[in-house]
Order: sequence, then C-alpha cells, then structure tokens
Amino acid sequence: MARTIAYAQATGVRAVPRGGGHCFAGRSSTEGLLLDLGRLDAIAVNADGRATIGAGARLAHVYNALHQHGRTIPAGCGPTVGIAGLTLGGGLGLLGRVHGLTCDALVSAQVVLADGRVLECDTQRDPELFWALRGAGGGQFGVVTSLVFATVAEPHATRFELHWTDGAAAAVIAAWQQWAPIAPDDITANLTVVAEPGRPLRVVVFGAVLRDGDATSTMVDELVAAVGTRPGVRVCDGSTFRDLKRALATSVQRTDSARVRIGRSEFFADPLPTAAIATLLDGLVDVSQGRRELNFTALGGAYNRVGPDATAFVHRSEQFLLEHVTDEGGQWVERSWAIAHVYGSGGVYPNFPDLELNDWATAYHGDNLARLRAAKHTYDPDRFFQFPQAI
Ligand SMILES: Cc1cc2nc3c(=O)[nH]c(=O)nc-3n(C[C@H](O)[C@H](O)[C@H](O)COP(=O)(O)OP(=O)(O)OC[C@H]3O[C@@H](n4cnc5c(N)ncnc54)[C@H](O)[C@@H]3O)c2cc1C
Repeated sequence: MARTIAYAQATGVRAVPRGGGHCFAGRSSTEGLLLDLGRLDAIAVNADGRATIGAGARLAHVYNALHQHGRTIPAGCGPTVGIAGLTLGGGLGLLGRVHGLTCDALVSAQVVLADGRVLECDTQRDPELFWALRGAGGGQFGVVTSLVFATVAEPHATRFELHWTDGAAAAVIAAWQQWAPIAPDDITANLTVVAEPGRPLRVVVFGAVLRDGDATSTMVDELVAAVGTRPGVRVCDGSTFRDLKRALATSVQRTDSARVRIGRSEFFADPLPTAAIATLLDGLVDVSQGRRELNFTALGGAYNRVGPDATAFVHRSEQFLLEHVTDEGGQWVERSWAIAHVYGSGGVYPNFPDLELNDWATAYHGDNLARLRAAKHTYDPDRFFQFPQAI
C-alpha cells in the first residue's frame, strides 16, 4: 500500500481507497488510482474477544466469521457494505441502541499515511488520528488497512415486522417517533414508508428485540395500542443475531439494488409536528414511476451516551434520522427534504453523503470540525487524500 501511494505521489495521480464500494456519492471511484482493499478481508478473533478485521471485509463475511466464535459487533445490515467505510463514518445498526456505533467498538486501526508511514493508532498511540477516524475517517486521513474491534456475545433476538397501509400512515409515524427513540435500549424499531405506482402506500415498522418471542409480542402490543390501528401483517420470529440480520437484509431493509439511488437525509432531535407528517405523506401520493421512500431510523440509547467530542462522530443527542430516497427523477426528494428540514437539527450522517449541502463540513462534523482540520494538517498536510471534499 505504501509503495502504491508513493507511486501516486510521484506521478501526480489521484488515489482513492475503496472498502465495500457503497459510497452513495461515488467517493470510492476515480479516474485515477483505485486502492481496492477488497482482498484484505481476513478476520481473526483473539481469546480476549477482540477481532482483527481486514479493511476489505464486507458485513456478511464479518457476521459469519464472528458467529463461529459466538461473537458479533454492533454494525449495519447491508451484507455487502464494507466494514471500513461503515466504521469510518460511524455505523448504525440493530445493536446500536445497546452498544453504540460501530466506530464506538473500534479499539485500534492500522493506517497508511500519504507519506508512506504505517501507523497503529488507538487511544494511546496517535490518539488524534484514532479520534478522527471514528466518524470522519472515510478517505480523509490515510488508508486504513485493518481494524481491531471489541466484540460482544452474539445475542438471541426476535425479529418483528408490522405492516400497515395508507390510512394508518400518519398515526404510525406519530406514534413511532414518540416511542422508538426512547424505547428500552434492547428494542430497535425502524420505520419505512414506501410509495409505488398502482400499489397502496406501505408503512412498515421493523427491527429486532433482544428478548424472547413472548416479551417481543408484549412490546409490539404496546406500539399497536399507541398507533390505534391493528397492522395487516405481523411477523415475530426468534433467531440468532446473524440469521436475524440475514432475514432483515432480504426484507424491508435497504437492498443492494442496482437502481440509481437519489437521497437526502438529516438528523432530528425532536418529533415532527402532525402537520409536517401530513405534508410529507401528501408528497407520496402522486408517484407515477419508480419508488419513493421515507426511512426513519431510531437513535437514542447507547448512541447518545457517548459525548459529541469523544469521537469525531458529533451527532450524539439526536432522536432519529430521516432519509428521503427515490429511484425516479424529478424534484420529490428536494421537496420532501425541505418540508422536514424546517424541524431538523441540521446534522447529516457522514455515511449518507449529500452533494446538495451548502456547508457539508459543518453538517457532517459540527463542533468537531476545527479539531478535525488540525488532525488533517498533522496527518495529511499536503492534502493528498482530498477527493472530492477534504476536511
Ligand atoms: C445496501 C446498503 C445498506 C446500508 N446499510 C447501512 C446500515 O445499516 N448502517 C449504516 O450506518 N450505513 C449503512 N449504509 C451506508 C454505508 O454505511 C455507507 O455507504 C458506507 O460508506 C459504505 O462503506 P463501504 O466500505 O461499502 O463503501 P466505500 O465506497 O468503499 O467507502 C466509503 C468511503 O470510505 C472511504 N474508505 C473506504 N475504505 C477505506 C479505507 N480502508 N481507508 C480509508 N478510507 C476508506 C472511501 O474512499 C469512501 O470515501 C448502507 C449502504 C448500502 C448501500
């Protein structure tokens, strides 16, 4: 890796690292030199429960390898998402409300800098680099070649999915946003609203509960009572955490679709008012082609028990994340985002990059920006890693 970077430096070719290749803004693609880490995907688990994971590993491989040891890490659901890109931007997932972000479980990382030095960083060695990597590390400071995580025992979990149609949408969103972000930590309940031409609107609350089926059913009853309308479909099934991830990855979760994805998102510290929910839903009725989605991700819990400056991931007092996603052209994403933005916190998840932001650096990094710029100056003073936006 160091030799490749030296070649890029000598020839003036731009070099860009790629983990799983899923960056929504295409930042792991280049007409220059692609540093594809895909084959660095070895995974080893120590007796102390620490896992050393090659930066090219993808999530399905990570979960499978850790499952052999009865262990896991809090991480996302897309099976082909790269562990590197996910961790370096934060990492939201089904265990996040109990164990925090994927980057919160990071213990150390090996990084190749632009000057060819290979550093092992952690809270003692090059702590500013380690701090910066946890939430702002994607393509910014160096090429991460391996990551060490503190794993947790793989839990038994119950998956649930509740499907409503049109009439209940506003009530489901209103009940969900009052309930999911402050639910007990072992409940992760996300919400998606899907509009497709010629089909009724689908409203799905789905997720995982680290309890048995009966306890999960009781929890589901509470949510249904708060909504006031029974769901048409109700699924509750228990499984190992790895199998649950697999099931969710093939159901309502974001799929590895080849379709073009256009999306904008924002964090919210407070619930949306009833009128805003109604206006958001009105924007879904005239879909004539493709698909429109509103995806709500519950935060709170362990995500918010870490200080905003403890890692570079600054968004530690948000209640939920809302994405407006489509695969059709037109202005719907912009309109829908603008309706919700009035009530948003202005913060944006770095792993959902948004090319329309006026001040992307503040939106992604907030009050951590000055410290990140100092770390950039220390570890990449010539701004070699700069495509397309350097901190
Ligand atoms: C199907 C799908 C499901 C998803 N599910 C979730 C989810 O559940 N939770 C969640 O939080 N997010 C989720 N995401 C978003 C995901 O976190 C981001 O897209 C993330 O950036 C993907 O990482 P990657 O390694 O696959 O992508 P890449 O495009 O390879 O990398 C993303 C960025 O990190 C940089 N980078 C990659 N590897 C390195 C490295 N080794 N060293 C330095 N920089 C590097 C790249 O240059 C690029 O800027 C999902 C995305 C998709 C497409």
